[in-house]
Amino acid sequence: MSRQKLERLGVHLPLFPATSVGSFPKPDYLVQARADFSKGRITQQQLEELERKATAFWIAKQEELGVDVLVDGEQYRGDMVAYFAERMPGFTQGGLVRSYGNRYYHKPVITGAVLWPGPITVGWWKYAQGLTAKPVKGMLTGPYTVMDWSFNEHYADRKAACLALADALRQEVQALIAAGCRIIQIDEPALSVRPEELPIAIEAMHRVTNGLDAYFITHACYGAFEYIYPAMLDLPVDNFDLEMSNSGLDMLALFRRHPFTKDISFGVVDVHSHVVEDADTVRRRVEQALTVLPKERVWVDPDCGLKTRTVEEAIEKLRACVAAARAFRN
Ligand SMILES: [Zn+2]
Repeated sequence: MSRQKLERLGVHLPLFPATSVGSFPKPDYLVQARADFSKGRITQQQLEELERKATAFWIAKQEELGVDVLVDGEQYRGDMVAYFAERMPGFTQGGLVRSYGNRYYHKPVITGAVLWPGPITVGWWKYAQGLTAKPVKGMLTGPYTVMDWSFNEHYADRKAACLALADALRQEVQALIAAGCRIIQIDEPALSVRPEELPIAIEAMHRVTNGLDAYFITHACYGAFEYIYPAMLDLPVDNFDLEMSNSGLDMLALFRRHPFTKDISFGVVDVHSHVVEDADTVRRRVEQALTVLPKERVWVDPDCGLKTRTVEEAIEKLRACVAAARAFRN
């Protein structure tokens, strides 16, 4: 059914579409430029020029590798929640908190009504899509995750904050669709952190996507999915992009007990490891997937965003994904 939806949207994909989750590492010159910008040594315009250069590099690299559904690589983003919070009225920047590893970010604070400020990601999507004939995913962080990773000092409770964010982010989705985007990924890495709140995440996703004509993907990771599966299948999206390899494909056992009913972007390489998986390892992971999932539903990609790897590691991990996808396609 989802394949038919893609066809109807004019998106023609081979079996086992190869894609990636969203972020790629920033080249050294961009890391340097971001530091320079934060110290006032270069202008916003100079920084953006280098962000565009890095985006073009990753689009060309994905084409060269043979990726089927591209991403812009998020070269213009720092943190995936702060990026949106910094641009939406209603948020104030909070103090530094630790996210993962040794990474710190300013946890946003909701201090007023959250509003859509006008297109946030659309310009980047248009730029990236203008560089390639292959489809580029639209990409935003979902309302539940933005709520969960922020402090709320304005709304009565977490649900009210989440639904207000959903109404704002829906306008971003509409703007992406109006610009011609057909595949839109709404990241919800926080989906499983509070299983009792899954209904809130589902209601919010309904508010974001209901009645809108695009193929929707959601990415979730770091999961205790045994607590939210199969209920999470009620999330109104076409495709779940899931971290499978880092957990040793544990979720396949859940899928055996209760059939997975959506398309899946099946993570076949671990983004937390420097080691690039060899072809056999990746092939075995896809074989395992196919013992439970129909081949028409399987996309192939890394577990999560590749931004914490080096540029070279990210390229090699993507290459491994494409090689596996092609091997099974033939
Ligand atoms: Zn992830």
